[in-house]
Amino acid sequence: MASPSHTPPDHGGDSVETRSPELRKDPATNRWVIFSPARAKRPTDFKSKSPENPNPKPSSCPFCIGREHECAPEIFRVPPDDDDPNWRIRVIENLYPALSRNLETQSNQPETGTSRSIVGFGFHDVVIEAPLHSIQLSDIDSVGIGDVLIAYRKRIEQIAKHDSINYIQVFKNHGASAGASMSHSHSQIMALPVVPPTVSSRLDGTKDYFEETGKCCLCEAKAKHFVIDESSHFVSVAPYAATYPFEVWIVPKDHSSHFHHLDDVKAVDLGGLLKLMLRKVAKQLNDPPYNYMIHTSPLKVAESQLPYTHWFLQIVPQLSGVGGFEMGSGCYINPVFPEDVAKVLREFGPLFDAAEKAFNSPVHILVNSAGIVDSNYPTIANTPIDDFDRIFRVNTRGSFFCCKEAANRLKGGGGGRIILLTSSLTEALNPGQGTYTASKAAVEAMVKILAKELKGSGITANCVSPGPVATEMFFSGKSEETVRSIIERSPFGRLGETRDIAPVVGFLASDGGEWINGQVIVANGAFLK
Ligand SMILES: [Zn+2]
Ligand SMILES: [Zn+2]
Repeated sequence: MASPSHTPPDHGGDSVETRSPELRKDPATNRWVIFSPARAKRPTDFKSKSPENPNPKPSSCPFCIGREHECAPEIFRVPPDDDDPNWRIRVIENLYPALSRNLETQSNQPETGTSRSIVGFGFHDVVIEAPLHSIQLSDIDSVGIGDVLIAYRKRIEQIAKHDSINYIQVFKNHGASAGASMSHSHSQIMALPVVPPTVSSRLDGTKDYFEETGKCCLCEAKAKHFVIDESSHFVSVAPYAATYPFEVWIVPKDHSSHFHHLDDVKAVDLGGLLKLMLRKVAKQLNDPPYNYMIHTSPLKVAESQLPYTHWFLQIVPQLSGVGGFEMGSGCYINPVFPEDVAKVLREFGPLFDAAEKAFNSPVHILVNSAGIVDSNYPTIANTPIDDFDRIFRVNTRGSFFCCKEAANRLKGGGGGRIILLTSSLTEALNPGQGTYTASKAAVEAMVKILAKELKGSGITANCVSPGPVATEMFFSGKSEETVRSIIERSPFGRLGETRDIAPVVGFLASDGGEWINGQVIVANGAFLK
């Protein structure tokens, strides 16, 4: 182990009282953080007692739709039609910019190593995330949040053409005590002629780690931090050396130096995970003010720096002020252990809250189809332990959390349905799919028991077990020849489609499905093993 100080210890069920004070440092922040059991608080101590109204409607808000003329000049809008009054996102100049966009010609004076002042050239823009005052970012669906992220990307690409700009900081202040002067949901983009100190320090830290281990510390985020959730392309973690209580990072799974390399598909994927994290933080802490920052790399990063520059998004609820010790030493005291934060934020309650809010009704039906597979299809002998843990975490542990929450939250008295998607592989038992199959078999056993435990609630619990279905996950890692041989084994001479599976789920969810309970319904077109 190259860097023992950066490995999450397994605190298991330790109470804070049995822990010793610890200083932790992360290469990506390059900053010591003190975790002290004597000062430790439990996550529940942070619930805000009187949540501030996040967006009181002022008598006049220039960010609201219809008041565009009161704002500083518009840079672009989404959709990109200037004449369309029904915009969803607007990117505008800040009316009170910290830097001036008009000083570019004067900004090319040579800067020496000792210079203590340069011309204040830069950009300071505002991204209005929604046309209506009542909508907060976390109310928007993942595609809509993806559009906000794509708007950041577009604006960064525009600004990056200016040679004097060295760093572009995207950030959001939500709530007055997080620094938001406008309550209408918005974020900001600040483009600087210098590389700020936190960025230089981060590069120093990630470089040292790379030189010591040959690895990018953020590519290792899943192993080095406390995982909360993950999507196809991102993982959210409570960082091992979190500077602030309840701080969350969302890190791209694939190595990527700059945020603005994000493609549209990944933007929507990130939008979904960002929404989930904002909702979970809001739910656990009573809608606190918060900031998020996108930590990307300097625009003019050298080729040799690329292996250890990896962007990420940091969410920081505003729960504790910065005091004299922090200002004096640059070290921080964090009263909450991130391993406890991860446990709290892994809970699934906010998902159900979001569904109840969206449908304005108690939840009656849970359908869980989340699943991942190792597309290298290793034998059990060759399966890395990390991959086993990852697959069980999503497929089995995720299903367990959903079942647990549903058993406590679904409306009883009839019509309640729990439906989990498993896999016909639990019967086919194919070599090379041991972990995936075992993860799904565990779910089938759990659901059969859950059906019995729900006696008297009127809630049924079943699995639907599809065979090969033409999805991205099915094709991943399979050669054309493999796919062809699978198709040849089907009596219908084709792969299943999602439209073959949805009606089965639909039937189980209907009133007519009540008499099917504790079953695994195989839906695979009589696929031959
Ligand atoms: Zn407004
Ligand atoms: Zn990386």
